[in-house]
Amino acid sequence: MHVAFYGATGEVTGSFHTVVTDRDTTLLDCGLFQGRRKETEAKNRVLPVDPKIFTNMVLSHAHIDHSGRIPMLTRDGFSGHIFCTRATAHACKYLLRDSAKIQEGDAAYLNYKTAKVFLAKLKTGGEQAKISAADQQEIKALLKSGDHDLRLDVVEKLLRENNLERITPLYTLAEAEESLGYFQGVPLHQTVTIGTELFCTFYGAGHILGSAMSVIQYKAEGQTKTVLYSGDLGRFDKPIIKDPTLDFAEEHRDIDLMIMESTYGSRVHEPVTDMKPMLKKVLTETFARGGSVIIPAFAYGRTQELLYFMHELFLAKEIPPMPVWVDSPLATDMTNVFGEHPETYDEETHESFLRKGLNPFDFEQLKFVQSVEESMALNRESKSHIVLAGSGMCEGGRVLHHLRHKIHDERNTVLIVGYMGQNTFGRRLQELGEKYQADGRRGEPPMVRFYNKDYPLKARVVTLGGFSAHGDRQEMTRVLKESNLVIKKIALVHGEEEQTQGFAEYLRREGFNVVVPFHGQSVFV
Ligand SMILES: [Zn+2]
Repeated sequence: MHVAFYGATGEVTGSFHTVVTDRDTTLLDCGLFQGRRKETEAKNRVLPVDPKIFTNMVLSHAHIDHSGRIPMLTRDGFSGHIFCTRATAHACKYLLRDSAKIQEGDAAYLNYKTAKVFLAKLKTGGEQAKISAADQQEIKALLKSGDHDLRLDVVEKLLRENNLERITPLYTLAEAEESLGYFQGVPLHQTVTIGTELFCTFYGAGHILGSAMSVIQYKAEGQTKTVLYSGDLGRFDKPIIKDPTLDFAEEHRDIDLMIMESTYGSRVHEPVTDMKPMLKKVLTETFARGGSVIIPAFAYGRTQELLYFMHELFLAKEIPPMPVWVDSPLATDMTNVFGEHPETYDEETHESFLRKGLNPFDFEQLKFVQSVEESMALNRESKSHIVLAGSGMCEGGRVLHHLRHKIHDERNTVLIVGYMGQNTFGRRLQELGEKYQADGRRGEPPMVRFYNKDYPLKARVVTLGGFSAHGDRQEMTRVLKESNLVIKKIALVHGEEEQTQGFAEYLRREGFNVVVPFHGQSVFV
């Protein structure tokens, strides 16, 4: 038996590992590489292993960097089942569709750009000459209807007739829909057969709704080999979902190889318990100024954690009953998924909400915005309110028009609750806003440019850390040391070089046998 690593080696995205026995090849996760298109396009385009050879697949959780290439897998000949928890299967229904729409949108936009450049060259007869405003207008009218909608049929026809390079999406919405038929939701702690003499049992990983560690056992000729795949590991004492499992069934405790994530292997987070008072402080101060709070929020997990904390604060009358708007169709769908899986909730959620007949994600002031018109109407709302809108890194989506109407007003707060990637608009807001605050808000406010205009960033920008879905070094070590597992070897994946190597050194000092596999490496069990 061996495990081979083809993704999330020396990086945090594109998880793709295989467990190979004499009779079966099992795929662990089938994630998308995320980051700049230039760097990820080639890595995403071709699956590293022919999907036809897999007996089955095991999926740790629904995040796109673990599930995002499943539609390619099923399109290209995979014929097994995708085993995961029921909540993960449910979440994938929305996340994979959403991912397909993004893939289709990106491809359409790139094709539009190719067509536009081609038409501009026709007008000027060469690359260098400057195209007139009238010609630009003409090209735009040909390729777009209104301001935003691409005329895809015209774009495609133009590319075809002129033999121009046409980008196809990584997968289509139809392919994503088709892949959903392969999912097989399994309850935690229930063992399923996933191959010849090969079995899988899920244990909660505490990372996101539905996330699981998978114990994979090969039992043949009186011998047992056990691989434990951590998937992404969560934090302890987070709201809503149960903590990472420490108590494993007796037959699952002797681990020959643990495949373990290492995202924050060299870091220590702020404690989870400090989050609610910090949130309360930000909301109270903003409301006292007569301002509103705008939260760029990730649809799956972060939005629901914030709603949970707000609901608690409202119930305890610790903050005034201001309206809360969730302005993201995906976040609305994902909140419904959370609402339908109380089996994943921790004891505290049962005590604070369920036993009182309350749903943590449903309270009087909470409204879910559906249409674009409703979303636009919110801009005219002058009373204090809270709006959560996507995208999480402010790279697009409805959050932008909320920012456009709110960032010039110093009474308002932009509350950042998630990681802002380098070179994203969210990161820019965060850096400029925090610097202006640190400088005592003296002088002219920084200007930020979006929607082709400059806006003064007068709203306060506050970052609430500690919402991370990944455990830090201490929390991951707790799973290794405080659980009843006996681990022979650990393979570290899913971390940037510095985090993984730092964690590896630390774990070796603690007495563990650790390998950091490179791309394509096999580790024998
Ligand atoms: Zn994850």
